[in-house]
Amino acid sequence: MNGIFYFNPVSSWSWSRRTSWQKSRRNRRPKGRELLCPVHQDQVLRGNGKKYFLHLLSAEALQQRGMPAKTARLVINAYPVFVLSNEWLEELFCEQCGSNHWCHITKHSPDQYTVRWAPQHLWEQVAHVDPSVANPTVSEYTRNQARRHQQKRVDGKRFYG
Ligand SMILES: [Zn+2]
Repeated sequence: MNGIFYFNPVSSWSWSRRTSWQKSRRNRRPKGRELLCPVHQDQVLRGNGKKYFLHLLSAEALQQRGMPAKTARLVINAYPVFVLSNEWLEELFCEQCGSNHWCHITKHSPDQYTVRWAPQHLWEQVAHVDPSVANPTVSEYTRNQARRHQQKRVDGKRFYG
């Protein structure tokens, strides 16, 4: 059976078994979308809003997110490509770090998010992204190089013409 199943645990499912790092950020109630730096916890991160959603391919990955084992197996059998709508990777800038970071963001409610630095292996779970070109910064660089190369060719034509 083919198909992509977009799953939103926030509305359809209760997250009773959150891990401790997910619970630890509840002492603050930010307004709207406020993503905080994992190192500087009062620093709001800024990004261009481009999200790379995660897909899950195994029942184990669902169980890690608190889904009962039996349900997880049924879901994976029914939907081989299972996209989480409340977890994604996003490049964000922290003023205090002074740099961009790839972050793994989990949305618990419209005003509650967990941010952590994205581990490398999560890129293999990004929907519709080829893991072999996993780093968008690298591909951006390649595109720029290609553009520069093209410009040279245009100049070259004029030179010969
Ligand atoms: Zn920071």
